[in-house]
Amino acid sequence: MPDNDHYVIIGNGPAGNHAAATLREKDKDAKITIISDECTPFYYKHKLTDFIADDIAAEKLMVNFLDSYKVKDIRIRLGQKVEKIDPDSKLLFLRHREKIKYTKLVIASGSRARVLPSMSGYADHLKSITSYTDVMEYKKQIRKAKAFFIFGGDLVGFKFVRMLRSMGKIITILICPNAFWPYDLTDDMLAQITESLLKFNVNIITNDDILTIKSQNGSFQVKTQKGVETNVDMVFSFNGLIPDIEFAKGSGIDIDHGILVNEYLKTNVNSIYACGSCAQIYNRAPKSYTTSIGWPNAVVQGEVAALNLLGDHKVIESVGQKYFDLEGVKIKTTWWEDIDIDKDHNA
Ligand SMILES: Cc1cc2nc3c(=O)[nH]c(=O)nc-3n(C[C@H](O)[C@H](O)[C@H](O)COP(=O)(O)OP(=O)(O)OC[C@H]3O[C@@H](n4cnc5c(N)ncnc54)[C@H](O)[C@@H]3O)c2cc1C
Repeated sequence: MPDNDHYVIIGNGPAGNHAAATLREKDKDAKITIISDECTPFYYKHKLTDFIADDIAAEKLMVNFLDSYKVKDIRIRLGQKVEKIDPDSKLLFLRHREKIKYTKLVIASGSRARVLPSMSGYADHLKSITSYTDVMEYKKQIRKAKAFFIFGGDLVGFKFVRMLRSMGKIITILICPNAFWPYDLTDDMLAQITESLLKFNVNIITNDDILTIKSQNGSFQVKTQKGVETNVDMVFSFNGLIPDIEFAKGSGIDIDHGILVNEYLKTNVNSIYACGSCAQIYNRAPKSYTTSIGWPNAVVQGEVAALNLLGDHKVIESVGQKYFDLEGVKIKTTWWEDIDIDKDHNA
């Protein structure tokens, strides 16, 4: 291996951090850099709702503090956004116009909230919680607000509903059958979810859609196509997470809705791997590419991408069948673990 190897990882979530830690464990000498457009070190996304509800302090959100990167001799660049990749020159272009040279690259840029095309006109009114940055923007408002309208209802959305109930808020939820994108919500799941939400004393709307959302003096009037009218303080949309890969477009890396990788997590471009929720992984059995969401999958993929980048040939396996527990109703998922906040999971 040449002395000047520089492994660069785009993304500071579980996939990126576990890739970096594995690279350091196996290669003591290489230069390793993690780049993140967020300003926070590695934190537990699944604890964000507990933080909003003031059930835990900010320190409890953190998996890694800045010191731990120093100990592992991993350079962390926070608040820096990658805007473009040029695989021919092996350069990354950052928003602040700096260029970074890599020898091998791991893309672990995760996902962002999906905005339904039909709702794009209301994008300013629809909030979501996908990061610490979102939480810092909305936490005070959420704590002050009394009534909420939730549009969609994916697993993050249900965690959010659970949190709102624990805070004594009034909730109306319009459940969308495709909120679990890229997975379909079966009739059976919809029935289970509706049953479990009833236990939360939530107003549930099904088989309907939003007609208008009007902002009036700091609050919102939501009208549905079937004529339901609700006045609320905040409107949230939880309609699945979509890979955050704008910067890879036009680079020559094959992309569908995520970054396409084979079962070794390698892209079509030499020396570039992708893992975690930004990747769409080839699966031999159904002969198709699937996105994998969830913390445990991201951890395993980060490790496997790093090992393969170093010359191994490990095939990625998805973590076992999991259940999301919504008030005692267990929703089967293969991609998500309902992580107990008391267990420091895979730190
Ligand atoms: C509120 C919430 C609760 C959740 N609860 C659970 C749960 O209970 N169980 C579970 O299994 N999963 C849960 N998840 C999902 C889980 O957190 C994700 O699946 C997991 O974090 C994905 O890991 P990742 O490393 O692929 O991406 P992420 O954790 O999303 O990290 C991506 C990183 O890339 C950075 N990035 C993106 N684009 C750029 C760019 N252009 N330049 C530089 N940096 C960039 C981001 O800032 C971020 O640091 C939850 C998610 C949320 C939002």
